[in-house]
Amino acid sequence: MFCGGFVVVAALYVGIDRNEQLMLVAASAFMFLLLVVSLRVPWHRFPWGTIAFPVSVLLALAVLAHVTAEVTFAFVSLIPLTFVYVGLFHPGRAALVVLPVAWWSYIAMVPIFDSMAAIRLTGYGIVWWATAQVLAVTMALQRDLRRRLADDARTDVLTSLGNRRDLEERLSQARPGDCLVIADLDHFKRLNDTRGHAAGDAVLEKFGGYLAQHIRRRDYAARYGGEEFVLILPRTEPVQAATMLRALRTEWAEQATGVTFSAGIAVVTQGTPPGSALAAADIALYRAKDAGRDQIRIAGTPIGGTHLSAAAGTRSDDT
Ligand code: GH3
Ligand code: MG
Ligand code: MG
Repeated sequence: MFCGGFVVVAALYVGIDRNEQLMLVAASAFMFLLLVVSLRVPWHRFPWGTIAFPVSVLLALAVLAHVTAEVTFAFVSLIPLTFVYVGLFHPGRAALVVLPVAWWSYIAMVPIFDSMAAIRLTGYGIVWWATAQVLAVTMALQRDLRRRLADDARTDVLTSLGNRRDLEERLSQARPGDCLVIADLDHFKRLNDTRGHAAGDAVLEKFGGYLAQHIRRRDYAARYGGEEFVLILPRTEPVQAATMLRALRTEWAEQATGVTFSAGIAVVTQGTPPGSALAAADIALYRAKDAGRDQIRIAGTPIGGTHLSAAAGTRSDDT
């Protein structure tokens, strides 16, 4: 549309008569109106809709060619530009939609029907289409690369869970009533020392996969660092979280890795940042470690509190 407007304005400076000038001014006004309207359209909801841009440029060129043929002849080179636009913002096949309009526009601007006309049109068509195609493929590769880089930047390589960066973002979105859990593998250093780091890595990988598989669809798991993991359990009571973790612990024991885990639970409360709840979960985790490991503790709950034991159905010292 901008190109079309440019053609019109440029044409006004060339020796054309008053009638032609009036028509060009009317065409410019119409294009300006279209531009104003197009700025109000939510194009992101109509990805294919933006194909209207190159098509309207080509149509404008074709229409103008009928008014001022000698002027628009000089603007044939705008046709490949429209294909550059198509390639940058649309899949390659979109060029096939624009191609017939481009041919029509070209014929309007260069109405030479000699014996070479068909070959010329075919040749130009191939070059225009190839221009859009190459750009579309390049853009798709770039998009894919960007997506992969963005994924990599948020994913822990060993466990494929979210990494610390991803966790920070998810944590900032936690709401009051969400539960935070820090789970830490017990005596992991000893495992590394006795069975080697490769065995340690394998257990970490297995634990990450285990968490990913066993949490609910709405829950989130990340590797906090080392052998520590964080779960975000939206809209979950601490007692409910404890019950869930107890089941996780029992099933994890059946994996026979010889490694247990301890966990601290805290709930995000109104008016305090989720980071405070994470710190509280960390303190609860240390209580679980101090109590002998392979345990679960809820922040702010006395050890072996009756409320918790009854709800979770566990030993009084093991919430
Ligand atoms: P605790 O029960 O108190 O948590 O004892 P722990 O041995 O698990 O804890 P500690 O903090 O003493 O040691 C954590 C170990 O985790 C030490 C470190 O070598 C190991 N570790 C951290 N990241 C990795 C990793 O990516 N791969 C392996 N194999 N080991 C790791
Ligand atoms: Mg540990
Ligand atoms: Mg640790």
